Amino acid sequence: MGANAPTMACRTCLDILNTVTAAGSTRYAHAAAADHPADPVPASTIDRPRRLCDFCGTTHLLTFAYTTAGPVSTLKVGGAVNELDHYGTIFRACAACAPRIDARDVDGLARVARAGRRAHPAAEALHRAILDDLRPARALICSTDWTPTPLPARTLPKVRDRLAALLRGADLIAGLPDRSSRSALADGLDRSTLTWANAQASVWARELAQATPAELTVRWEDAPSDAGLLAWAEPNGHDTALSWTVHDGGWQVASYHTVGSGLAGPDLQHLREQVGWLAPSAVTHIRPGQPVTDDPLRCLLAAVWIAVACQAAESVPLKPDPALERTYRRRGQAVPQVRLLRVRPRPARQPTKSSGTGTGLDWKFKTWVSGRYRWVAHGEKHSERRWQAVAGYWLGPEDAPINPHSAVRVLDRVRPVDAPER
Ligand SMILES: [Zn+2]
Ligand SMILES: [Zn+2]
Repeated sequence: MGANAPTMACRTCLDILNTVTAAGSTRYAHAAAADHPADPVPASTIDRPRRLCDFCGTTHLLTFAYTTAGPVSTLKVGGAVNELDHYGTIFRACAACAPRIDARDVDGLARVARAGRRAHPAAEALHRAILDDLRPARALICSTDWTPTPLPARTLPKVRDRLAALLRGADLIAGLPDRSSRSALADGLDRSTLTWANAQASVWARELAQATPAELTVRWEDAPSDAGLLAWAEPNGHDTALSWTVHDGGWQVASYHTVGSGLAGPDLQHLREQVGWLAPSAVTHIRPGQPVTDDPLRCLLAAVWIAVACQAAESVPLKPDPALERTYRRRGQAVPQVRLLRVRPRPARQPTKSSGTGTGLDWKFKTWVSGRYRWVAHGEKHSERRWQAVAGYWLGPEDAPINPHSAVRVLDRVRPVDAPER
């Protein structure tokens, strides 16, 4: 890409395009072979532009961006004009190419590129030019569309330790440039309570977050602990976990997505060693008394805290994993406690004589009523008011089929609620 030109992407396939200049004119070309002509638009106008690996041209599952000291270009000689392809100074690598770059393995890179059959025609020369001029720092790419993979509850101690090490490590993290935020997050993770929200609690938290009243705030006493890491059994969009830690008059809050779906063998192992299981996707801050509505991550955190604070949800200790227990005992450390977050059970509501008419409900079916907030009185003589979370519930006869027009289709996919082990 030219130094000053805007980054362009193809409107058809969303791929970031290369800039090609020849005889003073500029055009944009796909980085790899494509079955359609490039339709260039500024990448900033596309919601999620995709980048192919700059080394093998085969995949969007990028892990690290490497930087060269100077811009790299290739010159195609022949025909009527000489074409100059500009590649700039930033090169993004997939999970298969990154280990070979780290090992300065030009032959290995060429093998990966050849296997993919979409590599640049001058791939080897290009790789050599990049490796010869490489700067030491690499940056973890956080915008990659990894398919979210729920984390098993028993892995949370290991996942947490690896995430804290990533945040303290030397790699730059795109989207989290501030070193002091990184170490605050890592310190918080060390002290974190570990919670695994089962599928029902995950879906409910999302429902509640979407129904956040404009004036909803959290109080100091709503936070179940000073610092926590919470993983979702049912991923929340792209994200699989969030963390909070007391920081700067409030809490620093971060969400994380899983990395590595679709990888296997040594590539996956390298990713686990170099990155781990989670990468940050968003970081925000929340203060007591400040409305949370303007930020989806704050809404989600508030939903969990308030649900637990008003006892509509509960967290119970899970039995430690025996293998994990042995590992920690060998190190002379206590096994970190993992807790299960679940919705307190509510029986399905039965139709009453009066509710059968005039409510517009069809009692041949049962209908899902989404979780919501309620403004309730509490305290001495009901002098205070606070928000309370109400769990979703089935309305209708227990054995009736689910209303096909039921709003929350996602519940069809929810696995059975996990029984706590004591
Ligand atoms: Zn395209
Ligand atoms: Zn690659």
